[in-house]
Amino acid sequence: MKDIRVRFAPSPTGPLHIGGVRTALFNYLLAKQSGGKMILRIEDTDQTRFVPGAEEYIKNSLAWTGIEFDEGVNDKGDFGPYKQSERKEIYQKYIQELLDAGKAYYAFDTPESLDKIRKEFETKGERFMYNHATRSLMDNSLNMTDDEVKERLSKAEPYVIRFKIPENKEIVMQDLIRGEVRVNSNTLDDKVLMKSDGLPTYHLANIVDDHLMQISHVIRGEEWLPSFALHYLLYDAFGWEKPQFAHLPLIMKPVGKGKLSKRDGAKMGFPVFPMAWKDDKTGEIYAGYKEDGYFPESFVNLLALLGWNPGTEQEVFTMDELIEIFDLSRVNKSGAKFDPEKAKWFQHQHLQRKSTNELVDLFLPVLQEKLGYTTEGKAIRDYSKKVIELLKERATFVKDFWEQGAFFFTAPTEYGAKAVKKQWKADTPDLMKELIEMIKDIEPWQASNLKEKISVWINQKEIGFGKVMQPLRLSLVGDLKGPDLFVIMEMLGKAETLKRIAQAVSVLKK
Ligand code: GLU
Repeated sequence: MKDIRVRFAPSPTGPLHIGGVRTALFNYLLAKQSGGKMILRIEDTDQTRFVPGAEEYIKNSLAWTGIEFDEGVNDKGDFGPYKQSERKEIYQKYIQELLDAGKAYYAFDTPESLDKIRKEFETKGERFMYNHATRSLMDNSLNMTDDEVKERLSKAEPYVIRFKIPENKEIVMQDLIRGEVRVNSNTLDDKVLMKSDGLPTYHLANIVDDHLMQISHVIRGEEWLPSFALHYLLYDAFGWEKPQFAHLPLIMKPVGKGKLSKRDGAKMGFPVFPMAWKDDKTGEIYAGYKEDGYFPESFVNLLALLGWNPGTEQEVFTMDELIEIFDLSRVNKSGAKFDPEKAKWFQHQHLQRKSTNELVDLFLPVLQEKLGYTTEGKAIRDYSKKVIELLKERATFVKDFWEQGAFFFTAPTEYGAKAVKKQWKADTPDLMKELIEMIKDIEPWQASNLKEKISVWINQKEIGFGKVMQPLRLSLVGDLKGPDLFVIMEMLGKAETLKRIAQAVSVLKK
Protein backbone atom coordinates (compact mmCIF):
# COMPACT_ATOMS: atom_id res chain seq x y z
CA MET A 1 0.00 0.00 0.00
CA LYS A 2 1.07 3.56 -0.74
CA ASP A 3 2.35 5.65 2.14
CA ILE A 4 -0.48 7.53 3.73
CA ARG A 5 -0.25 11.22 3.00
CA VAL A 6 -3.24 13.41 3.76
CA ARG A 7 -3.75 17.12 3.56
CA PHE A 8 -5.87 19.81 5.07
CA ALA A 9 -6.31 22.49 2.43
CA PRO A 10 -8.16 25.52 3.76
CA SER A 11 -8.76 28.71 1.83
CA PRO A 12 -7.95 31.79 3.91
CA THR A 13 -11.33 33.35 3.24
CA GLY A 14 -12.37 33.75 6.88
CA PRO A 15 -12.30 31.92 10.17
CA LEU A 16 -12.36 28.16 10.19
CA HIS A 17 -15.81 26.79 11.00
CA ILE A 18 -15.97 23.74 13.30
CA GLY A 19 -16.78 21.64 10.23
CA GLY A 20 -13.39 22.60 8.84
CA VAL A 21 -11.63 21.67 12.05
CA ARG A 22 -13.39 18.31 12.02
CA THR A 23 -12.12 17.72 8.48
CA ALA A 24 -8.60 18.52 9.66
CA LEU A 25 -9.07 16.23 12.66
CA PHE A 26 -10.20 13.21 10.64
CA ASN A 27 -7.25 13.67 8.30
CA TYR A 28 -4.94 13.94 11.28
CA LEU A 29 -6.33 10.82 12.96
CA LEU A 30 -5.83 8.78 9.82
CA ALA A 31 -2.28 10.08 9.35
CA LYS A 32 -1.30 9.43 12.95
CA GLN A 33 -2.72 5.94 13.21
CA SER A 34 -0.97 4.84 10.05
CA GLY A 35 2.37 6.54 10.61
CA GLY A 36 1.54 8.73 7.63
CA LYS A 37 2.08 12.40 6.97
CA MET A 38 -0.28 15.30 7.55
CA ILE A 39 0.13 18.29 5.27
CA LEU A 40 -1.19 21.83 5.51
CA ARG A 41 -1.75 23.48 2.17
CA ILE A 42 -3.08 27.00 1.87
CA GLU A 43 -5.43 27.31 -1.10
CA ASP A 44 -5.32 31.02 -1.74
CA THR A 45 -5.76 31.34 -5.48
CA ASP A 46 -9.03 33.22 -5.21
CA GLN A 47 -7.64 36.67 -4.51
CA THR A 48 -11.09 38.23 -4.41
CA ARG A 49 -12.04 36.23 -1.34
CA PHE A 50 -8.80 36.71 0.56
CA VAL A 51 -9.32 37.84 4.16
CA PRO A 52 -6.38 39.29 6.08
CA GLY A 53 -5.59 37.38 9.26
CA ALA A 54 -7.49 34.27 8.20
CA GLU A 55 -4.38 32.16 7.58
CA GLU A 56 -2.95 33.01 10.99
CA TYR A 57 -6.31 32.30 12.55
CA ILE A 58 -6.48 28.89 10.89
CA LYS A 59 -2.96 27.96 12.00
CA ASN A 60 -3.52 29.15 15.56
CA SER A 61 -6.83 27.34 15.83
CA LEU A 62 -5.37 24.06 14.62
CA ALA A 63 -2.40 24.43 16.96
CA TRP A 64 -4.76 25.04 19.90
CA THR A 65 -6.83 22.01 18.92
CA GLY A 66 -3.70 19.86 18.98
CA ILE A 67 -3.67 19.04 15.28
CA GLU A 68 -0.07 19.04 14.15
CA PHE A 69 1.37 19.05 10.69
CA ASP A 70 4.37 17.22 9.34
CA GLU A 71 4.60 19.41 6.28
CA GLY A 72 3.34 22.75 5.16
CA VAL A 73 3.55 25.02 8.16
CA ASN A 74 6.45 27.42 7.58
CA ASP A 75 7.07 25.48 4.38
CA LYS A 76 8.53 22.52 6.20
CA GLY A 77 8.66 19.50 3.86
CA ASP A 78 9.96 18.42 0.46
CA PHE A 79 6.90 19.23 -1.63
CA GLY A 80 6.68 23.00 -1.18
CA PRO A 81 5.83 25.70 -1.60
CA TYR A 82 2.66 24.82 0.26
CA LYS A 83 0.86 28.03 -0.53
CA GLN A 84 -0.88 27.95 -3.88
CA SER A 85 -0.28 31.60 -4.67
CA GLU A 86 3.43 30.71 -4.74
CA ARG A 87 2.95 27.86 -7.21
CA LYS A 88 1.74 29.81 -10.24
CA GLU A 89 4.39 28.48 -12.67
CA ILE A 90 3.59 24.91 -11.72
CA TYR A 91 -0.07 25.31 -12.67
CA GLN A 92 0.88 27.06 -15.88
CA LYS A 93 2.96 24.09 -16.92
CA TYR A 94 0.11 21.65 -16.30
CA ILE A 95 -2.58 23.74 -17.93
CA GLN A 96 -0.34 23.92 -20.98
CA GLU A 97 -0.27 20.13 -21.01
CA LEU A 98 -4.05 20.02 -21.17
CA LEU A 99 -4.15 22.72 -23.86
CA ASP A 100 -1.59 20.85 -25.97
CA ALA A 101 -3.56 17.64 -25.67
CA GLY A 102 -6.78 19.39 -26.72
CA LYS A 103 -8.36 18.70 -23.33
CA ALA A 104 -8.68 22.34 -22.43
CA TYR A 105 -9.27 25.44 -24.51
CA TYR A 106 -9.12 29.22 -24.44
CA ALA A 107 -12.42 31.04 -24.08
CA PHE A 108 -12.61 34.73 -24.86
CA ASP A 109 -16.29 35.22 -24.08
CA THR A 110 -16.84 38.44 -22.21
CA PRO A 111 -18.97 38.56 -19.07
CA GLU A 112 -21.52 40.57 -21.11
CA SER A 113 -21.78 38.00 -23.88
CA LEU A 114 -22.13 35.19 -21.34
CA ASP A 115 -24.84 37.11 -19.61
CA LYS A 116 -26.64 37.66 -22.86
CA ILE A 117 -26.69 34.00 -23.82
CA ARG A 118 -27.75 33.03 -20.30
CA LYS A 119 -30.72 35.36 -20.59
CA GLU A 120 -31.61 34.02 -24.03
CA PHE A 121 -31.75 30.52 -22.60
CA GLU A 122 -33.81 31.71 -19.67
CA THR A 123 -36.43 33.23 -21.92
CA LYS A 124 -36.70 29.83 -23.60
CA GLY A 125 -37.15 28.32 -20.13
CA GLU A 126 -33.79 26.58 -20.27
CA ARG A 127 -30.57 26.81 -18.28
CA PHE A 128 -27.44 27.70 -20.19
CA MET A 129 -24.50 25.37 -19.75
CA TYR A 130 -21.11 25.94 -21.34
CA ASN A 131 -20.63 22.38 -22.58
CA HIS A 132 -20.49 20.04 -25.55
CA ALA A 133 -23.85 21.30 -26.79
CA THR A 134 -23.05 25.00 -26.70
CA ARG A 135 -19.29 25.38 -26.92
CA SER A 136 -19.38 25.49 -30.73
CA LEU A 137 -21.51 28.64 -30.51
CA MET A 138 -19.09 30.46 -28.25
CA ASP A 139 -16.03 32.65 -28.64
CA ASN A 140 -13.38 30.06 -27.90
CA SER A 141 -10.29 28.52 -29.44
CA LEU A 142 -12.19 25.40 -30.51
CA ASN A 143 -13.89 27.54 -33.12
CA MET A 144 -10.77 29.31 -34.37
CA THR A 145 -7.69 28.59 -36.39
CA ASP A 146 -4.38 28.42 -34.55
CA ASP A 147 -3.35 31.71 -36.08
CA GLU A 148 -6.49 33.40 -34.88
CA VAL A 149 -5.89 32.12 -31.36
CA LYS A 150 -2.29 33.31 -31.46
CA GLU A 151 -3.34 36.70 -32.65
CA ARG A 152 -5.93 37.17 -29.97
CA LEU A 153 -3.52 36.03 -27.30
CA SER A 154 -0.83 38.37 -28.60
CA LYS A 155 -3.27 41.25 -28.33
CA ALA A 156 -3.55 40.39 -24.63
CA GLU A 157 -7.29 39.89 -24.89
CA PRO A 158 -8.72 38.64 -21.62
CA TYR A 159 -9.45 34.93 -21.63
CA VAL A 160 -10.07 31.98 -19.37
CA ILE A 161 -9.08 28.37 -19.92
CA ARG A 162 -11.89 25.86 -19.76
CA PHE A 163 -11.83 22.11 -19.36
CA LYS A 164 -13.40 20.21 -22.23
CA ILE A 165 -15.77 17.85 -20.47
CA PRO A 166 -16.35 14.69 -22.52
CA GLU A 167 -19.85 14.19 -23.81
CA ASN A 168 -22.23 11.69 -22.24
CA LYS A 169 -19.72 9.78 -20.18
CA GLU A 170 -20.79 7.81 -17.13
CA ILE A 171 -18.30 8.69 -14.41
CA VAL A 172 -18.15 6.00 -11.75
CA MET A 173 -16.37 7.08 -8.59
CA GLN A 174 -15.48 5.41 -5.34
CA ASP A 175 -15.94 7.18 -2.05
CA LEU A 176 -14.72 5.54 1.17
CA ILE A 177 -17.83 6.71 3.01
CA ARG A 178 -20.47 6.76 0.30
CA GLY A 179 -19.38 3.79 -1.79
CA GLU A 180 -20.00 4.09 -5.51
CA VAL A 181 -21.02 7.53 -6.77
CA ARG A 182 -22.16 7.93 -10.39
CA VAL A 183 -22.49 11.09 -12.41
CA ASN A 184 -23.15 11.59 -16.12
CA SER A 185 -20.75 14.08 -17.65
CA ASN A 186 -23.62 15.85 -19.39
CA THR A 187 -24.58 17.32 -16.02
CA LEU A 188 -21.23 19.09 -15.82
CA ASP A 189 -20.18 22.27 -17.56
CA ASP A 190 -16.80 23.13 -19.04
CA LYS A 191 -15.36 24.44 -15.81
CA VAL A 192 -12.89 27.29 -15.82
CA LEU A 193 -9.47 25.97 -14.84
CA MET A 194 -7.49 29.17 -15.21
CA LYS A 195 -8.91 32.60 -14.64
CA SER A 196 -8.19 35.81 -16.51
CA ASP A 197 -5.70 36.85 -13.82
CA GLY A 198 -3.50 33.87 -14.75
CA LEU A 199 -4.26 32.08 -11.52
CA PRO A 200 -5.77 28.61 -11.51
CA THR A 201 -9.19 27.93 -10.05
CA TYR A 202 -9.57 25.70 -7.04
CA HIS A 203 -10.19 22.63 -9.19
CA LEU A 204 -6.98 22.70 -11.18
CA ALA A 205 -4.73 23.79 -8.34
CA ASN A 206 -6.26 21.27 -5.99
CA ILE A 207 -5.73 18.22 -8.14
CA VAL A 208 -2.30 19.26 -9.45
CA ASP A 209 -1.15 19.74 -5.87
CA ASP A 210 -2.73 16.55 -4.57
CA HIS A 211 -0.90 14.72 -7.33
CA LEU A 212 2.47 16.44 -6.88
CA MET A 213 2.29 16.21 -3.10
CA GLN A 214 1.55 12.49 -3.44
CA ILE A 215 -1.65 12.68 -1.45
CA SER A 216 -3.04 9.22 -0.82
CA HIS A 217 -6.43 10.17 0.68
CA VAL A 218 -8.53 13.22 0.01
CA ILE A 219 -10.77 13.64 3.04
CA ARG A 220 -12.97 16.70 2.84
CA GLY A 221 -16.45 18.03 3.49
CA GLU A 222 -19.57 16.97 1.65
CA GLU A 223 -19.78 20.42 0.07
CA TRP A 224 -17.07 19.26 -2.32
CA LEU A 225 -19.05 16.27 -3.56
CA PRO A 226 -20.37 18.21 -6.59
CA SER A 227 -16.73 18.71 -7.70
CA PHE A 228 -15.88 15.04 -7.31
CA ALA A 229 -16.71 14.02 -10.90
CA LEU A 230 -14.81 16.95 -12.36
CA HIS A 231 -11.77 16.01 -10.31
CA TYR A 232 -12.01 12.42 -11.49
CA LEU A 233 -12.06 13.60 -15.09
CA LEU A 234 -9.07 15.85 -14.46
CA TYR A 235 -7.05 12.96 -13.07
CA ASP A 236 -7.98 10.95 -16.15
CA ALA A 237 -7.10 13.83 -18.46
CA PHE A 238 -3.61 13.98 -16.97
CA GLY A 239 -3.37 10.20 -16.84
CA TRP A 240 -2.62 10.27 -13.11
CA GLU A 241 -3.40 7.69 -10.50
CA LYS A 242 -6.19 8.93 -8.25
CA PRO A 243 -6.02 9.22 -4.50
CA GLN A 244 -8.81 7.67 -2.44
CA PHE A 245 -11.66 9.99 -1.61
CA ALA A 246 -13.88 10.42 1.44
CA HIS A 247 -16.54 13.12 1.67
CA LEU A 248 -17.52 13.79 5.28
CA PRO A 249 -21.14 14.46 6.22
CA LEU A 250 -22.31 18.00 6.83
CA ILE A 251 -22.76 19.36 10.32
CA MET A 252 -26.38 20.38 10.67
CA LYS A 253 -28.24 22.99 12.72
CA PRO A 254 -29.34 21.92 16.22
CA VAL A 255 -32.96 22.60 15.28
CA GLY A 256 -34.62 22.75 11.91
CA LYS A 257 -33.04 21.85 8.62
CA GLY A 258 -29.82 22.84 6.93
CA LYS A 259 -26.14 23.33 7.52
CA LEU A 260 -24.90 24.76 10.77
CA SER A 261 -24.08 28.42 10.17
CA LYS A 262 -22.29 31.08 12.14
CA ARG A 263 -25.66 32.77 12.63
CA ASP A 264 -27.01 29.70 14.44
CA GLY A 265 -24.25 30.00 17.00
CA ALA A 266 -24.88 33.67 17.65
CA LYS A 267 -28.62 33.07 17.85
CA MET A 268 -28.49 30.11 20.19
CA GLY A 269 -25.49 31.10 22.25
CA PHE A 270 -22.83 28.55 21.35
CA PRO A 271 -19.59 28.92 19.40
CA VAL A 272 -19.30 27.78 15.80
CA PHE A 273 -15.59 28.63 15.61
CA PRO A 274 -12.63 27.14 17.44
CA MET A 275 -11.38 30.57 18.49
CA ALA A 276 -13.09 33.93 18.68
CA TRP A 277 -13.06 35.90 15.45
CA LYS A 278 -13.72 39.52 14.70
CA ASP A 279 -15.20 40.30 11.33
CA ASP A 280 -13.38 43.49 10.36
CA LYS A 281 -15.99 44.44 7.81
CA THR A 282 -19.02 44.29 10.08
CA GLY A 283 -17.27 44.63 13.43
CA GLU A 284 -19.11 41.51 14.64
CA ILE A 285 -17.31 39.24 17.07
CA TYR A 286 -17.96 35.53 16.94
CA ALA A 287 -17.42 33.40 20.01
CA GLY A 288 -14.81 30.65 20.10
CA TYR A 289 -14.57 27.36 21.98
CA LYS A 290 -11.22 28.39 23.39
CA GLU A 291 -12.41 31.68 24.82
CA ASP A 292 -15.62 30.09 26.09
CA GLY A 293 -13.49 27.87 28.30
CA TYR A 294 -13.48 24.55 26.49
CA PHE A 295 -10.38 22.40 26.80
CA PRO A 296 -8.84 21.42 23.46
CA GLU A 297 -9.40 17.76 24.37
CA SER A 298 -13.14 18.36 24.88
CA PHE A 299 -13.31 20.20 21.58
CA VAL A 300 -11.54 17.34 19.80
CA ASN A 301 -13.82 14.82 21.45
CA LEU A 302 -17.03 16.58 20.48
CA LEU A 303 -15.83 17.05 16.91
CA ALA A 304 -14.82 13.42 16.55
CA LEU A 305 -18.34 12.28 17.35
CA LEU A 306 -19.93 14.55 14.79
CA GLY A 307 -20.50 12.04 12.03
CA TRP A 308 -18.32 9.25 13.38
CA ASN A 309 -18.99 6.67 16.08
CA PRO A 310 -16.76 4.00 17.58
CA GLY A 311 -19.43 1.29 17.35
CA THR A 312 -19.47 0.97 21.15
CA GLU A 313 -21.11 2.86 24.00
CA GLN A 314 -17.94 4.80 24.77
CA GLU A 315 -18.18 8.51 24.12
CA VAL A 316 -15.34 10.11 26.02
CA PHE A 317 -11.99 9.87 24.27
CA THR A 318 -8.59 11.48 24.38
CA MET A 319 -6.78 12.31 21.17
CA ASP A 320 -4.55 9.25 21.64
CA GLU A 321 -7.55 6.99 22.03
CA LEU A 322 -9.12 8.47 18.91
CA ILE A 323 -5.92 7.92 16.96
CA GLU A 324 -6.08 4.31 18.01
CA ILE A 325 -9.66 3.53 17.07
CA PHE A 326 -10.71 6.05 14.42
CA ASP A 327 -11.94 4.34 11.29
CA LEU A 328 -13.21 6.08 8.17
CA SER A 329 -15.58 3.22 7.50
CA ARG A 330 -17.51 4.20 10.63
CA VAL A 331 -18.18 7.71 9.34
CA ASN A 332 -21.84 8.26 8.48
CA LYS A 333 -23.17 9.44 5.18
CA SER A 334 -25.97 11.51 6.59
CA GLY A 335 -25.57 14.92 8.21
CA ALA A 336 -24.59 15.12 11.88
CA LYS A 337 -26.88 17.29 14.00
CA PHE A 338 -24.94 19.61 16.24
CA ASP A 339 -26.10 19.53 19.86
CA PRO A 340 -24.78 22.44 21.98
CA GLU A 341 -25.78 20.71 25.22
CA LYS A 342 -23.83 17.63 24.26
CA ALA A 343 -20.84 19.84 23.49
CA LYS A 344 -20.96 21.06 27.09
CA TRP A 345 -21.35 17.51 28.31
CA PHE A 346 -18.02 16.59 26.71
CA GLN A 347 -16.38 19.53 28.42
CA HIS A 348 -17.90 18.46 31.73
CA GLN A 349 -16.56 14.96 31.26
CA HIS A 350 -13.04 16.13 30.48
CA LEU A 351 -13.04 18.50 33.43
CA GLN A 352 -13.97 15.58 35.70
CA ARG A 353 -11.01 13.64 34.32
CA LYS A 354 -8.51 16.31 35.27
CA SER A 355 -6.64 16.03 38.55
CA THR A 356 -7.32 18.64 41.19
CA ASN A 357 -3.75 19.86 40.86
CA GLU A 358 -4.18 20.47 37.13
CA LEU A 359 -7.41 22.32 37.82
CA VAL A 360 -5.72 24.46 40.46
CA ASP A 361 -3.09 25.46 37.90
CA LEU A 362 -5.83 26.48 35.51
CA PHE A 363 -7.90 28.22 38.16
CA LEU A 364 -5.25 30.35 39.88
CA PRO A 365 -4.82 32.74 36.92
CA VAL A 366 -8.62 33.22 36.84
CA LEU A 367 -8.58 33.91 40.55
CA GLN A 368 -5.73 36.35 40.25
CA GLU A 369 -7.59 38.27 37.57
CA LYS A 370 -10.78 38.40 39.61
CA LEU A 371 -9.19 39.30 42.92
CA GLY A 372 -6.63 41.67 41.48
CA TYR A 373 -3.81 40.43 43.67
CA THR A 374 -1.29 37.67 43.37
CA THR A 375 -2.39 34.16 44.09
CA GLU A 376 1.06 32.77 44.58
CA GLY A 377 1.91 30.79 47.65
CA LYS A 378 1.02 27.50 49.21
CA ALA A 379 -1.85 28.72 51.37
CA ILE A 380 -3.98 30.02 48.51
CA ARG A 381 -3.11 26.96 46.48
CA ASP A 382 -4.23 24.58 49.21
CA TYR A 383 -7.35 26.61 49.83
CA SER A 384 -8.23 26.67 46.09
CA LYS A 385 -7.69 22.96 45.97
CA LYS A 386 -10.32 22.45 48.67
CA VAL A 387 -12.72 24.76 46.86
CA ILE A 388 -12.22 22.85 43.62
CA GLU A 389 -12.76 19.52 45.33
CA LEU A 390 -16.05 20.81 46.70
CA LEU A 391 -17.30 22.21 43.41
CA LYS A 392 -15.76 19.93 40.81
CA GLU A 393 -18.61 17.50 40.37
CA ARG A 394 -21.03 20.19 39.32
CA ALA A 395 -18.55 22.25 37.31
CA THR A 396 -18.20 22.26 33.51
CA PHE A 397 -15.68 25.03 32.96
CA VAL A 398 -12.77 26.28 35.05
CA LYS A 399 -14.57 29.61 35.28
CA ASP A 400 -17.40 27.82 37.12
CA PHE A 401 -15.17 27.54 40.17
CA TRP A 402 -15.32 31.30 40.36
CA GLU A 403 -18.93 31.60 39.29
CA GLN A 404 -20.06 29.03 41.81
CA GLY A 405 -17.48 29.68 44.50
CA ALA A 406 -16.45 33.34 44.51
CA PHE A 407 -17.79 33.59 48.07
CA PHE A 408 -14.96 31.35 49.23
CA PHE A 409 -12.59 34.16 48.36
CA THR A 410 -14.53 37.33 48.82
CA ALA A 411 -17.45 38.38 51.04
CA PRO A 412 -20.75 38.91 49.26
CA THR A 413 -21.37 42.50 48.25
CA GLU A 414 -24.95 41.85 47.32
CA TYR A 415 -27.59 39.34 48.28
CA GLY A 416 -30.00 37.51 45.96
CA ALA A 417 -33.21 39.56 46.07
CA LYS A 418 -35.54 36.59 45.80
CA ALA A 419 -33.73 34.70 48.53
CA VAL A 420 -33.77 37.73 50.82
CA LYS A 421 -37.47 38.17 50.30
CA LYS A 422 -38.14 34.56 51.10
CA GLN A 423 -35.66 33.88 53.91
CA TRP A 424 -34.79 37.16 55.65
CA LYS A 425 -37.74 37.78 58.00
CA ALA A 426 -38.41 40.45 60.59
CA ASP A 427 -37.00 38.31 63.39
CA THR A 428 -33.94 37.19 61.43
CA PRO A 429 -31.53 39.96 62.50
CA ASP A 430 -32.04 39.17 66.19
CA LEU A 431 -31.68 35.49 65.53
CA MET A 432 -28.43 36.10 63.64
CA LYS A 433 -27.08 38.27 66.44
CA GLU A 434 -27.83 35.46 68.89
CA LEU A 435 -26.14 33.04 66.56
CA ILE A 436 -23.02 35.20 66.48
CA GLU A 437 -22.89 35.18 70.26
CA MET A 438 -23.32 31.43 70.35
CA ILE A 439 -20.83 30.43 67.67
CA LYS A 440 -18.04 32.76 68.62
CA ASP A 441 -17.03 30.39 71.38
CA ILE A 442 -17.21 27.20 69.35
CA GLU A 443 -13.91 25.34 69.30
CA PRO A 444 -12.57 23.53 67.35
CA TRP A 445 -13.88 25.37 64.30
CA GLN A 446 -14.54 22.29 62.24
CA ALA A 447 -17.50 21.37 60.10
CA SER A 448 -18.57 18.36 62.16
CA ASN A 449 -18.30 20.21 65.44
CA LEU A 450 -20.09 23.24 64.03
CA LYS A 451 -22.85 21.01 62.79
CA GLU A 452 -23.29 19.41 66.14
CA LYS A 453 -23.25 22.62 68.19
CA ILE A 454 -25.50 24.58 65.89
CA SER A 455 -27.99 21.71 65.62
CA VAL A 456 -28.24 21.41 69.38
CA TRP A 457 -28.77 25.16 69.66
CA ILE A 458 -31.52 25.16 67.01
CA ASN A 459 -33.25 22.24 68.69
CA GLN A 460 -33.16 23.94 72.04
CA LYS A 461 -34.76 27.00 70.57
CA GLU A 462 -37.43 24.79 69.07
CA ILE A 463 -37.37 26.58 65.74
CA GLY A 464 -37.11 25.14 62.25
CA PHE A 465 -33.63 24.35 60.98
CA GLY A 466 -34.22 26.41 57.85
CA LYS A 467 -35.03 29.50 59.86
CA VAL A 468 -31.38 29.67 60.90
CA MET A 469 -29.58 27.88 58.12
CA GLN A 470 -31.09 29.78 55.19
CA PRO A 471 -30.31 33.29 56.49
CA LEU A 472 -26.91 32.00 57.55
CA ARG A 473 -26.25 30.75 54.05
CA LEU A 474 -27.44 34.03 52.63
CA SER A 475 -25.01 35.86 54.91
CA LEU A 476 -22.00 33.76 53.99
CA VAL A 477 -22.68 33.05 50.32
CA GLY A 478 -24.92 35.93 49.25
CA ASP A 479 -27.50 33.51 47.90
CA LEU A 480 -29.06 30.15 48.58
CA LYS A 481 -26.45 28.12 46.73
CA GLY A 482 -23.17 26.35 47.41
CA PRO A 483 -22.02 23.17 49.11
CA ASP A 484 -22.52 22.08 52.72
CA LEU A 485 -22.79 25.17 54.90
CA PHE A 486 -20.74 23.81 57.80
CA VAL A 487 -17.93 23.06 55.38
CA ILE A 488 -18.18 26.61 54.08
CA MET A 489 -17.94 27.91 57.65
CA GLU A 490 -14.88 25.84 58.35
CA MET A 491 -13.25 27.03 55.15
CA LEU A 492 -13.98 30.68 55.82
CA GLY A 493 -12.76 30.46 59.39
CA LYS A 494 -14.32 31.90 62.48
CA ALA A 495 -13.41 35.55 62.08
CA GLU A 496 -14.64 35.77 58.48
CA THR A 497 -17.83 33.88 59.28
CA LEU A 498 -18.68 36.21 62.13
CA LYS A 499 -17.85 39.23 60.04
CA ARG A 500 -20.13 38.12 57.22
CA ILE A 501 -23.07 37.45 59.48
CA ALA A 502 -22.65 40.86 61.09
CA GLN A 503 -22.41 42.45 57.67
CA ALA A 504 -25.60 40.79 56.47
CA VAL A 505 -27.41 41.95 59.59
CA SER A 506 -26.33 45.53 59.00
CA VAL A 507 -27.00 45.51 55.25
CA LEU A 508 -30.26 43.57 55.16
CA LYS A 509 -31.69 44.91 58.42
CA LYS A 510 -35.52 44.72 58.84
N1 GLU B 1 -9.74 24.80 -0.41
C1 GLU B 1 -10.82 23.89 -0.20
C2 GLU B 1 -11.52 24.32 1.08
O1 GLU B 1 -11.40 25.44 1.43
C3 GLU B 1 -10.28 22.49 -0.12
C4 GLU B 1 -11.26 21.42 -0.43
C5 GLU B 1 -10.54 20.08 -0.54
O2 GLU B 1 -10.12 19.59 0.50
O3 GLU B 1 -10.39 19.59 -1.65
O4 GLU B 1 -12.20 23.61 1.75
